[in-house]
Amino acid sequence: MDDSRDRELGMHRKITRRDFINGVAVTAGASVMPRHFFAAGSADPEKSPDYYPPSLTGLRGSHPGSFDAAHSLRDGTFWESAGKPEDTGETYDLIIVGGGISGLAAAHFYRKSAGENARILILENHDDFGGHAKRNEFQAGKRTLIGYGGTYSIESPEPYSAVAKSVIEELGVNVSSFPRFLERSLYSTDGRVPKIFFDRENFGADKLVDDPCPFPGGETFDLAVAGPDAWAYFLAEAPIAERARKDVSRLCRDNKDYLPRLNSEQKKDRLARISYAQFLTDVAGMHPDVVRVYQSISQPLFGVGIEAIAALDAADTGYPGFKGMGLEAEGLTNERTYFFHFPDGNATIARLLVRKLIPQAVPGDSVTDLVTAKANYARLDEASSPVRIRLNSTAVRVKHLGDIATSKEVEVSYTRGGKVYTARAKNSILACWHVVIPYICDELPGKQKEALASAQKVPLLYTNVLLPNATAFHKIGANSIYAPSGYHTHVDMDLPVSVGDYHCPRTPDEPVVIHMSKSPCKAGMPARDQHAAGRIELYGASFARIERKIREQLAQILGPGGFDPARDIAAITVNRWPHGYAYEYSSLWDKFVLDGGETPCDVARKPLGRIAIANSDAGARAYTDEAINQAHRAVGEITKA
Ligand SMILES: Cc1cc2nc3c(=O)[nH]c(=O)nc-3n(C[C@H](O)[C@H](O)[C@H](O)COP(=O)(O)OP(=O)(O)OC[C@H]3O[C@@H](n4cnc5c(N)ncnc54)[C@H](O)[C@@H]3O)c2cc1C
Repeated sequence: MDDSRDRELGMHRKITRRDFINGVAVTAGASVMPRHFFAAGSADPEKSPDYYPPSLTGLRGSHPGSFDAAHSLRDGTFWESAGKPEDTGETYDLIIVGGGISGLAAAHFYRKSAGENARILILENHDDFGGHAKRNEFQAGKRTLIGYGGTYSIESPEPYSAVAKSVIEELGVNVSSFPRFLERSLYSTDGRVPKIFFDRENFGADKLVDDPCPFPGGETFDLAVAGPDAWAYFLAEAPIAERARKDVSRLCRDNKDYLPRLNSEQKKDRLARISYAQFLTDVAGMHPDVVRVYQSISQPLFGVGIEAIAALDAADTGYPGFKGMGLEAEGLTNERTYFFHFPDGNATIARLLVRKLIPQAVPGDSVTDLVTAKANYARLDEASSPVRIRLNSTAVRVKHLGDIATSKEVEVSYTRGGKVYTARAKNSILACWHVVIPYICDELPGKQKEALASAQKVPLLYTNVLLPNATAFHKIGANSIYAPSGYHTHVDMDLPVSVGDYHCPRTPDEPVVIHMSKSPCKAGMPARDQHAAGRIELYGASFARIERKIREQLAQILGPGGFDPARDIAAITVNRWPHGYAYEYSSLWDKFVLDGGETPCDVARKPLGRIAIANSDAGARAYTDEAINQAHRAVGEITKA
């Protein structure tokens, strides 16, 4: 990349785009983050008053240093260089591996069963708690802006279970009150509507066109409402074949039955066996350009394009083409009403759980004050507290002491700051990613290890960019942009939500955090292979490379609104999730979905002696309610044993 282009893009500009720890800039991509904390001389870096992960920018999510130990276990090299584990002498009732919502919920359920004095240790390999539910903070002068680095909202295609609902209620979240916090008409009153960006590289011209038929599945909830003249703009301006434009109109507006000879059950069976792309071309007779336009629309929800999702899943999600097909609602469960989006997404749920478990670590006593509350990380791991959360600590071995059938204790080894430690507990819950478990729990049967290893997660990139103002978005009249062939396929203003003392940006001259998302996938391969390829891509991408892509993409889309990437980017946080969503079974790729029988997650989550298994992977559903449901089941298994 030549230097003058880099200058135009602002690659040399001083922004808060890299990690700063103890005043030292950490080069992006280097595997230094937690080690750097420890290198600063402290055995407990979390005790430093400067330790506040949400405000770190640069490469976050699975940040450098968080995964080295797990990858070394996978490669069989960890124990070669690990010293003899040091016994901490600590004993607990329960040690939980993984400080995501499932691990935190497991601690919550266990205390309900065993009492508030039960001693619990939660080990988490990242520098923050919450797992995918990650909070990003930005400083714009004196104002703090909040973004979500992962888990976006309380929502699920299936109704929340009674157990999951009761946790949300106990935490004090009244889901039905959400409309009170949402400024629903903020964008539409000043003419900001969903748009599609067609790029010159793939569509022959850079064109931003009203999206006449915004699909669910982005981050826009019910603000995904087309502008009043959207069809006129789209039909006149979209740079695709004229027939394709008309076909899009037909698809979205006609309620046609494309399989009139089949009954509802037969239609569902047929739709389960073909992709949505095939449905569009082969069943609905759409021009191939329609597939090009909508190719990436499914990525935020499924992690793959429409050639790799089943048409039945597209129908279930509410994608166009199915309204006139007479599909009976059973099995079509798009529950959009149980919804709540906090500015930091479900990091609020994680923070509420931590407040319940360790009240001294998260000040305040209401949901609304929590949104702006600053967690005190120094208090997460105190000997005097019955519940302790130990960050920057990767569990590397979990085993029963003695014979599994008669054992009274489990020993957990973990690595932290380059050393290995052990602690003991009566029970352990593995609420971590299932692909990790075979490497840390050798005692499990081979068949179970295979099932655990098959839970290949869906990689995702959630980028937050702080802009000094939103004037470019106002000028181009957009609140969300779908870019079918962009590096990030979605560029969105967040839902305008104000809670407690937190006020979302309202006017064009206020600083704003925009959200960009990408699912690294390789169209044409089976879904699991696409996820594996995407994972490799994400681990291999340096921050500088992603930063350049962000700058190029924003310049291309927002340039006509006066956006200058060298001037108008104040900070960047890239949340990289090579192990993102739990893998959800698909009738296209997983034979047992249609044939029936035991699923891999049925086998994967079986308890063994004093060890139980949680995480959303255990239900093969990438949702917060599933993380909670699985925690509840796992706690039930160890408490009744
Ligand atoms: C980008 C993104 C957006 C999402 N959006 C939504 C949404 O809007 N709504 C929704 O309901 N769901 C969403 N999800 C799904 C999300 O995964 C679940 O909602 C939920 O947060 C999962 O919680 P969990 O505890 O099961 O897993 P995780 O959050 O992944 O937590 C597991 C934790 O275990 C840790 N761990 C792994 N191995 C070890 C080890 N050896 N030692 C110590 N710790 C270990 C991991 O690092 C991780 O922090 C999203 C996921 C992603 C990635």
